[in-house]
Amino acid sequence: MATIQLQVVSPEKQICDKEISMLIVRSTGGELGILPRHAPLITGLIPHAMRIKSDGQESLMAIAGGFMEVTPTKITVLASAAEEPEQIDVNRAQAAYARAKQRIEAFKAAPAQNEDIDIDRAEAALARAKARLIATGTSFN
Ligand code: ATP
Repeated sequence: MATIQLQVVSPEKQICDKEISMLIVRSTGGELGILPRHAPLITGLIPHAMRIKSDGQESLMAIAGGFMEVTPTKITVLASAAEEPEQIDVNRAQAAYARAKQRIEAFKAAPAQNEDIDIDRAEAALARAKARLIATGTSFN
């Protein structure tokens, strides 16, 4: 079966370098499925759980956001942070989720009294926490 190399790096380390059969990501332009011999492409990635298919199995990897470069033989993901499910501290992600959600709700309920809340930052933190909870199969509401 044809494969394509997937390399995922963050400013801190290399998270993955392996041959895969398909990658499904959420780019700034929508969902993309990348197969071997894909046309060259560069795009931004939003926080989400990437789906990686290899050896007939599907696994997830949390991406906090970043960029992806695709050539016919290689996918490079430059992530601000990325974790495989077993690297994720679920309690920490749940706490980040609750914190962000509380800030967003407080801001929406009374924007004038909560001018100090950076709503874009809270929304981004919520999206990163959601990506980590989804990657670990943890439910949230
Ligand atoms: P927090 O508010 O909990 O710090 P964050 O979304 O602000 O979360 P990031 O800025 O995306 O965190 O990541 C900073 C570093 O912490 C990265 O190295 C990332 O891999 C790591 N990290 C963040 N959250 C978790 C988690 N729940 N489990 C393991 N590592 C995490």
